[in-house]
Amino acid sequence: MSGSEYSGKRDFRRTPEPRGSARRRGRSKQPIFVIQQHAARSDHFDFRLEADGALKSWAVPKGPSTNPRDKRLAMPTEDHPMEYADFEGVIPKGEYGAGPVIVWDRGTYENTTTDREGREVPVAEALDDGELKVRLHGEKLTGGYVLVRTGGGDRERWLLIKARDDEADARRRPARTQPESVISGRTLKQVEAEEGEAG
Ligand code: MN
Repeated sequence: MSGSEYSGKRDFRRTPEPRGSARRRGRSKQPIFVIQQHAARSDHFDFRLEADGALKSWAVPKGPSTNPRDKRLAMPTEDHPMEYADFEGVIPKGEYGAGPVIVWDRGTYENTTTDREGREVPVAEALDDGELKVRLHGEKLTGGYVLVRTGGGDRERWLLIKARDDEADARRRPARTQPESVISGRTLKQVEAEEGEAG
């Protein structure tokens, strides 16, 4: 998906979301991930991974789990521009995705997807193949996760699953117990109260 799907859905005279530009980060840096909590028509977490100069994105209704037994539905959404990783604020009523957004977690990640010979598979290729393994280095989430595609075409959906590793923890439930933004310490409700149309 290209950036035009992102711009086509938004009126940048109204929404505070970034327009996005073609600027890319240096290739020597570790790629980033970000998880934004977003109270739109339905509450969800937007899981985004940097790849090829954009943020590959999935909407995860229940949010990520630290329990390897949980298979969290992750619906693919349009690529977002890199600048979106810092976006926190309120998308105005009537606009696409209207509602408050916070940066729930962020950090860098490693692509740990390998082929049979143990060579790294590039992210784009792994996504085409329907299975991407990553290792997250976030503030709330750390360790291995896998994104697996189930179904195709109009029924394309993915599952986000915690790997069984030292960072797995069946009791943590961070999506519920750690609701604050990692950049401002605010919850969705606080952002809405401070930056919403009433505020
Ligand atoms: Mn969203």
